[in-house]
Amino acid sequence: MRPSLIVHGGAWDIPDDAVDACKEGCLRALHAGWAVLANGGHALDAIEAAIIVLEDDPVFDAGYGSHLNLDGFVECDAIVMDAATLKAGSVAGLRRVKNPIQAARAVLEKSPHMMLIAEGAEQFAYRQGLPLCDPAELVSPAEREAWDRCRVDSHAAEHHRGHEQGTVGAVALDDQGRLFAATSTGGTCCKLPGRVGDSPLIGCGCYADSDTGAVSSTGYGEAIMRVVLAKTACDFLRPAASTPARAAQAAVQLLARRGKGSGGLILLDKGGNPGMAFNTPRMAYALVNPDGSFFASV
Ligand code: ASP
Repeated sequence: MRPSLIVHGGAWDIPDDAVDACKEGCLRALHAGWAVLANGGHALDAIEAAIIVLEDDPVFDAGYGSHLNLDGFVECDAIVMDAATLKAGSVAGLRRVKNPIQAARAVLEKSPHMMLIAEGAEQFAYRQGLPLCDPAELVSPAEREAWDRCRVDSHAAEHHRGHEQGTVGAVALDDQGRLFAATSTGGTCCKLPGRVGDSPLIGCGCYADSDTGAVSSTGYGEAIMRVVLAKTACDFLRPAASTPARAAQAAVQLLARRGKGSGGLILLDKGGNPGMAFNTPRMAYALVNPDGSFFASV
C-alpha cells in the first residue's frame, strides 16, 4: 500500500506574521513523519514523530507554547486513535508533560482505558517512563506576554487576537494499511481551568475507522463537540459518490450550520487519499503528494 500523511497546525485567524512559521513548522512535522513511513515504518510512530515536532514548536498551540488558561497555566489535551481497532488513547488537563501525544500513546498501548485526565493521567505517564516537567517549562515568553495583555481587560476576547495559532494534528497510513489519527492542543486562550475542548474527545477532535477514514479537527471546540465533527466527517466518506474533499467540506458546513462555529479538519480516506476543509480565514496544513513531493499551505 502507498503510505500517506497529512498534518495541520490549526484553523484560526492566523496572523500574517505567523504564516511562514506555521508553514515551516508543518513541513518539518511532515518530514519527521514521512521519514518513518518512507522507510516502511509504523503509522503510529509516524504520527508521534510529526506531532512531537509540532508540540515542541512554540508557534503552535500544543505542548510548549500552548495558550495559557485563565490562571496562567498551560493545560494540554491530546488523543491518538487506531482505525483498525477503534481504540483511542486520550489525555486531558496535563500541566507537566512536555509531549502530551506520548502520554496519549501510552494510554492507547498500555492501559485498558480510553481517556485519563489531570493528575491521574500525569501519574500514569510517569509510570510509563515519561518525565514530568515543571509547569513553567511549557510556557513560552510570547504566550506569557499575550496573557498579560489579556489580563489588562479581564481577558476580553479582542486581546486574544495575535496569538491564535492553533491546535495540531496528523493522520497517517503506512504501507501495511495501518491508519491512525491524532490531535494535540493547549485549548483556547484564557479558558477556565479544567476546561476540556473537543480535541481529546473521541469523535470530536479525532476519529479513525478503517471502514471509512481518519480525521483530525481544529477550531472552536464547543462548536465541534455539538456536531461530533471528526466522526461526522468519517461518516460522510461512506456514500459511494463521496470524495475526501466533499466529505471534509460537508462536515465543515455542518459545523457552521448546526454547530454555529468555525474550524477545520484534515482527513485521509481508508485508501490514503487526503481531504481538508475550513471555514476560518486560514488553516495551516501540509501533505505528501502521490509523487512524494511535499505541499504546505496556510
Ligand atoms: N479545538 C481546540 C479547542 O477548542 C482549539 C483549536 O483547535 O485550536 O480546545
